[in-house]
Amino acid sequence: MHPQTSSSSIVHTGLAWHNPFHQLGSAFYTPLAPQPLGTPYWVGRSEAVADMLGIGCQQMQSNDLLQALAGNRSISGTQPLASVYSGHQFGQWAGQLGDGRAILLGEVKGLEVQLKGSGLTPYSRMGDGRAVLRSSIREFLCSEAMHGLGIPTTRALCVVGSDDTVWRETPETTAVVTRVAPSFVRFGHFEHFAARNQSEALKTLADYVIGRYYPDCLNGDMFNSQVYANFLQRVVERTAIMVAHWQSVGFCHGVMNTDNMSILGLTMDYGPFQFLDAYDPGHICNHTDRQGRYAFDQQPDIAHWNLYALAQALIPLIGEQSLALQALDTFKPLFTAKFEQLMSHKLGLPDAPAALIDDLLTLLAKNRVDYTIFWRRLNAAQGSANTEPVRDLFLDRDGFDAWMLRYSELATHISQGVDANLMHNSNPKFVLRNYLGEEAITAARNKDFSGVSKLLVLLGTPFDEHPGSETYAGFPPDWANQIEISCSS
Ligand code: AMP
Ligand code: MG
Repeated sequence: MHPQTSSSSIVHTGLAWHNPFHQLGSAFYTPLAPQPLGTPYWVGRSEAVADMLGIGCQQMQSNDLLQALAGNRSISGTQPLASVYSGHQFGQWAGQLGDGRAILLGEVKGLEVQLKGSGLTPYSRMGDGRAVLRSSIREFLCSEAMHGLGIPTTRALCVVGSDDTVWRETPETTAVVTRVAPSFVRFGHFEHFAARNQSEALKTLADYVIGRYYPDCLNGDMFNSQVYANFLQRVVERTAIMVAHWQSVGFCHGVMNTDNMSILGLTMDYGPFQFLDAYDPGHICNHTDRQGRYAFDQQPDIAHWNLYALAQALIPLIGEQSLALQALDTFKPLFTAKFEQLMSHKLGLPDAPAALIDDLLTLLAKNRVDYTIFWRRLNAAQGSANTEPVRDLFLDRDGFDAWMLRYSELATHISQGVDANLMHNSNPKFVLRNYLGEEAITAARNKDFSGVSKLLVLLGTPFDEHPGSETYAGFPPDWANQIEISCSS
């Protein structure tokens, strides 16, 4: 039997909870408590996120908090709810989706706190409302890894595991991730109300998001078509910056449906994501994405496509189509400028010529060079006469030598030369490779959580050397490319 939530078991966190999303009104959600979870235990906890929320070390060890974040006890001051949204999945209109396995508890210090995997909601459709241990650990570690890399992302406070099982391809134990972000509103929230011609609700939502997160879009106190166009423009900017980061670090999201696109330009809804091992622009990380719609090199175009869907939803507010198109047209130049800046920094240069970057990426792809290791070795070769470790990564040595000559010549023409420090801080030593996650997950299934904790430390400061942790920065083993991750993971 699971413990039931009851008023006698309310947890007092001492945190100041607010519920502004709840105040939007019932058109936006269903009020609902999380479902209880059997035999909860801590799997991983982020001290950094606890700090952001003002949760002390002792409280992060407490059984009260464990039970609350498992969904077994309610938290004083929260007004839990599951929000409704719709969206385009794999390019098709999917209709109503919603928080099918997530519950928003409320806000602390301007941050929404959400439980993911917390049981059935009215939006669960065919699902069971649960998340398995594997996907929960992946989401937890990746959100913190992305933050460590300086990439806009939702965060994760902790993973709570359980011996309760659900059926996937085999029975798997379930878990709940506590996610944290200024807002979990998605493009799909806007699409939902636009598709239903609920223009009042659409406006209420837009005004809420603009007022709270994009106040610089306002013209004084007025909400007019220019304000909504400004808002779209700002979302275009943030999305372009987010995807430029993904492309520069070799991150493949895997399910860029419009319901997984954050209105704040945060990486969100970690599912079948993958950091590239060997550089392969056409890499498809989602096992169920047979057409490769969400292949690595498609991500910028897909983000642009998703922004069109958002713009379409905002047309009743923006009024003039030309204003929306103007905003959308800025996506490509913004993306390219940010991508080139990030890639230049990886080369230790203020701004490298696009051809130098393009030709390098072509070489990396042809030679199937490990993306993360390449950059770190290129960095190590600075100021050293020995370029062999980086050169050895290429079968086409002549091709590499020719490119390296162009790079070196360019650097000598810049007064300060290559900025080794900038390079060091732009090229991570540690990324969450699939196989590293799998090893930590396998151990966690046997209740050994040390791998999760270790990765949390390395990925939190991925540019640092972390002496003694070299094995986490090496080439993936042969079995790594047999790992299959799908949407349902
Ligand atoms: P995703 O592909 O994870 O972005 O999910 C798409 C939609 O399916 C969202 O509405 C999710 O809440 C819902 N969903 C995914 N997995 C489950 C599940 N196990 N139970 C209920 N709903 C789910
Ligand atoms: Mg989702």
